[in-house]
Amino acid sequence: MFKINENYLKLPGSYLFSAIGKKVNAYSAAHPDKKIIRLGIGDVTQPLAPAILEALHRAVDEMGRAETFRGYAPDLGYEFLRSAIAGQDYQARGCEISADEIFVSDGAKCDSANIQELFSLDNRIAVCDPVYPVYVDSNVMAGRTGTYDSAKETWSDVIYMPCTADNAFAPELPGDGQTPDLIYLCFPNNPTGAVISKARLQEWVDYANRVGAVILFDAAYEAYISEPDIPHSIYECEGARTCAIELRSFSKNAGFTGLRLGFTVVPKELKCGDVSLHGMWARRHGTKYNGAPYIVQRAGEAVYSPEGKAQLKEQIAAYMKNAAYIFNGLKEAGYTVSGGVNSPYIWLKTPGGMSSWEFFDCLLEQVNVVGTPGSGFGPNGEGYFRLTAFGSYENTVEAVDRIRKLHL
Ligand SMILES: *Cc1c(COP(=O)(O)O)cnc(C)c1O
Repeated sequence: MFKINENYLKLPGSYLFSAIGKKVNAYSAAHPDKKIIRLGIGDVTQPLAPAILEALHRAVDEMGRAETFRGYAPDLGYEFLRSAIAGQDYQARGCEISADEIFVSDGAKCDSANIQELFSLDNRIAVCDPVYPVYVDSNVMAGRTGTYDSAKETWSDVIYMPCTADNAFAPELPGDGQTPDLIYLCFPNNPTGAVISKARLQEWVDYANRVGAVILFDAAYEAYISEPDIPHSIYECEGARTCAIELRSFSKNAGFTGLRLGFTVVPKELKCGDVSLHGMWARRHGTKYNGAPYIVQRAGEAVYSPEGKAQLKEQIAAYMKNAAYIFNGLKEAGYTVSGGVNSPYIWLKTPGGMSSWEFFDCLLEQVNVVGTPGSGFGPNGEGYFRLTAFGSYENTVEAVDRIRKLHL
């Protein structure tokens, strides 16, 4: 008689976005005439840039000719893509990362969920609160998080690092007696849109090296950084090569949410005793993965071409124009808002002490705008709400104008 992995049964409730989907579907079934504007899920809306499309078409044609057909891709990714990444995302910024430290994958969600399997089950994880749910849930499935307290919405064996207005939504180093082994950081942050300064990130790197922890740094929103002195990569910090793994994605900077491409950087100096995590991740990739599609890796290469870079800069500028409209519009209307400057997410305090879900219902029912309740990302997200800048400009303007007319 088979037995299941009982850790799955510990996962609480339904996934945040399915709960939102149900509410929105019920509302639109009851009010079919209403035009709902969705600024909830973090998915891009602009089509692929022309340079990327051309690269895809070329690669598709290559696949149709015997002389240029490609079968299985190299496990760790094609050299043309890994070199472009190492050169332009890292070496050009003064980060000492080489092409053979890049592992190409089909996205950062899987990588951020899978990376925990390199580590012992008795490692203690630390996460921000609020947090991108994948980091915690993947550790729950593995059995690393202890027991769930449904009143507090926390796991007994997880260290939560509150990210609140008081610390500008960037976590403090854990106190005594709370030493983590694995530290998940995501900056620019989803959901808060907050960033971390290079000096603050350096403190985290120094801390991790001191206590022997690994930082899993999710830089999926790196392309949205607009201010100087905000690190684009953790490897801009001294000593990060011995303590940090970085996760990157083509989803948010180049619209690959449907195409699927990402990568993970594991420096060769990152070791536990004399065992290198680079070797372990290479082994995992080789055993469990057969590589991202050739055509998609060619599309990824085009992200680094001069035309591709120019076109993507415009795409991001368009999303950031939306972000500025939301930020300024809500601020003028008296809302307390943050994020939106180096990130496509605006994090706002719900008005009048409403709970996150109360404000969700109010926006949906009164002005037909959908956002994401902050409480879905962790207890410290309660009383907050996330709006994304990924809609069209028209819809964004209309949504903000509607929210401003809300009678509370
Ligand atoms: C969107 C997002 C990713 C990217 O996921 P993909 O699987 O590459 O599409 C990674 N981390 C965070 C925090 C995100 O919001």
